Amino acid sequence: MTNHNWATNIDFHDAKTLHPQSIEELASIVSSSPNVRVRGTAHCFNTIADTNHTAVVLDAMPKQLTINVVSKTATVSAGLIYSEISELLEAQGWAIHNLASLPHITIGGATATGTHGSGIKNGALHTSIRSVELMRPDGTLHKLTRGVDEEFYAVIVGLGLTGIAVSFELDIEPTFQIMQTIYGELPLKVFGENIIEILSGAYSVSFFSTWDDDQVCEIWYKSKTTPPATYFGASARTEKAHPIFGEDATAATEQFGQPGPWHLRLPHFKIGQTPSAGKELQSEFFVDSKNAAAAFAAFHAISKDFRHKVLVTEIRSVAADDYWMSPAYGRESVAFHCTWMLDDEVPHLVSLIEAVLQPFSFRPHVGKVFNVGSDHLRKVLPKFDEFREYVMKTDPGGKFQNDFTRALLDL
Ligand SMILES: Cc1cc2nc3c(=O)[nH]c(=O)nc-3n(C[C@H](O)[C@H](O)[C@H](O)COP(=O)(O)OP(=O)(O)OC[C@H]3O[C@@H](n4cnc5c(N)ncnc54)[C@H](O)[C@@H]3O)c2cc1C
Repeated sequence: MTNHNWATNIDFHDAKTLHPQSIEELASIVSSSPNVRVRGTAHCFNTIADTNHTAVVLDAMPKQLTINVVSKTATVSAGLIYSEISELLEAQGWAIHNLASLPHITIGGATATGTHGSGIKNGALHTSIRSVELMRPDGTLHKLTRGVDEEFYAVIVGLGLTGIAVSFELDIEPTFQIMQTIYGELPLKVFGENIIEILSGAYSVSFFSTWDDDQVCEIWYKSKTTPPATYFGASARTEKAHPIFGEDATAATEQFGQPGPWHLRLPHFKIGQTPSAGKELQSEFFVDSKNAAAAFAAFHAISKDFRHKVLVTEIRSVAADDYWMSPAYGRESVAFHCTWMLDDEVPHLVSLIEAVLQPFSFRPHVGKVFNVGSDHLRKVLPKFDEFREYVMKTDPGGKFQNDFTRALLDL
């Protein structure tokens, strides 16, 4: 039994790890246990999914995916991973609007941390959720609906504190094709001067750089229409690329502008392959897109101080949303991500980045490495205190809390 997270930097301390096979069994565990932490596929890089008590994993629950063509929704079990969801949708001619860089993670875990893909008009993955069925600390089930229940906006991106999601109803749309093209050797100067235009140029766009002396980046361009021959002067690559320079590109999704279904192009990494490097840490900070150029200049200026431990930096955009703990709450965002070597120096290097992004009221991805605490979150997330009160009201005994969330929310 695995007792660590995907990246192996966190050992879990579960007193018990349980895999309920039905809603009734989950309800019995939840109602009879003093403390329960639900876990997905353990792809977070901090202790958010750890516990000293009972961990529940929903991988043995019945796998449900039903499509309603009239309401254009799919109801899916929360323990499903995105590759399962997207293959089932695609087989019936349907799609969801976006995917993260990898399809290996559960929808329950992604929703709890505000996981996102790219695209200036694409909300984070949780924005496709129309309703959720949640288990509360007493084991009862409650359905909350977008646009109907105000607390819906508290429970989505709930950090595992607002209940155990057992199913989601998702907005779906007819399947669509995406073409992926990688443009190489774009000067960082050109990117910095045109950051929003570049990130807005296709359905989903990502910047990748290692900040080397050549001072260039790659643009991963995922479009619904035929890609241009050059992009801001950069030429399309003719050799297949992996986001981490030097890694085997077999693990990356198809490129060269070859059209293919949404779920085989929007992620950078293929299911069945190791995503990213495997031995790594990640951090990510969101700023208002209005400040993207200034934040990029500040980030670039200190890149020489952190690049020795960076495997790659990715920069993406995310549409604004209304979810209280979402890093994109109320602001169209640009997210500055680093994939790091698995190394003890990383928290220090992350704090250098936090310091230069401080003037831009950055918000951290709560599933990745960060150092700021409740004081910072309270300043940058307008609904932070309301979320805290909501957690204390709906779970007064702290059944769903762990050390990480107690520290983060000052509970
Ligand atoms: C290689 C790699 C690439 C990544 N790429 C991206 C990316 O492109 N974009 C991005 O935003 N992030 C990315 N991440 C981060 C990752 O998507 C998030 O950390 C996500 O939360 C992981 O989902 P999980 O199923 O592994 O959740 P876990 O790590 O297992 O759990 C995360 C949190 O979700 C809660 N949770 C789990 N299931 C439920 C449920 N059913 N109900 C309520 N709460 C629940 C847990 O309690 C915990 O708090 C990446 C991570 C890796 C390792």
